[in-house]
Amino acid sequence: MTYDLNNRTAVVTGAASGIGAEIALVLARSGAKVALLARRADRLTDLADKIAAEGGRALAVAADVTGDLTEAVEAVHTAFGRVDLVVNNAGVMLGNPLSEGRDDEWHRMIDTNLKGLLNVTKAFTADLVEAGAVGTADLVNISSIAAHLTFPNYAVYTATKAAVTHLSANLRTELGPKGVRVTNIEPGLVHSELAGHIDNPDVAAHLAQWREEVPPLDPSDLGDVVGFATSRPRNVNLRQLVVLPTVQV
Ligand code: NDP
Repeated sequence: MTYDLNNRTAVVTGAASGIGAEIALVLARSGAKVALLARRADRLTDLADKIAAEGGRALAVAADVTGDLTEAVEAVHTAFGRVDLVVNNAGVMLGNPLSEGRDDEWHRMIDTNLKGLLNVTKAFTADLVEAGAVGTADLVNISSIAAHLTFPNYAVYTATKAAVTHLSANLRTELGPKGVRVTNIEPGLVHSELAGHIDNPDVAAHLAQWREEVPPLDPSDLGDVVGFATSRPRNVNLRQLVVLPTVQV
């Protein structure tokens, strides 16, 4: 499905795969210029080429959300000008019992899912506030239903997502009055590469079994939700969206 996002300029993090790639496709098909951010340049270039072949406009920007984003921001501004739609989607999920003390994994998740999201938000807040003053700007954060549930072996991941959900609600009180809609999206199970980084065979097998029992959403379902939320009339803010497979309880 497509929406009316003509004249919008978007940045989508984690656009190299899964949910982020599908969000970028929907935004581009809906008329937005889209900057694609992630670390794997080849994936981003392939997606940008696909969007261009469909008649859309996309820019591949290889960047790590945990690092210095100065060059990435400059590249986006040079190509497309001011940004008015930011989707913080980049994330990692690493499952292990907390008692194993895998602080390497804890740091990676906190740095990417929370600090990376803040880093990107900081980089584009001035753009969003400027755009909000003359119309609607959108900041979309991809949290997770995990923000509200308890899962053994995912304590740190769920904590990062709870933080994103709470951060989004609070940020909205700051940015909403400035014309910036803040939308927090909490997906349930979605087909993607997310589980591929889990190095504990038991934890990976348990998740794979759950995915057998509950067929996950397609990432394009989330692309559709983001297209819908960001194309509402400017006075309408879908603040919090929980998006689950129908049979996931
Ligand atoms: P994927 O693993 O397919 O996508 C994650 C994306 O994040 C990749 O494109 C990856 O690209 C990018 N990324 C990871 N680390 C960084 C970094 N340091 N800097 C820049 N980009 C980075 O998984 P999903 O599409 O499923 O995940 C997208 C979001 O959705 C995540 O925030 C996840 O937590 C959330 N989510 C997913 C659910 C699911 O069931 N799949 C459920 C609920 C929420 P690259 O490696 O090239 O940098």
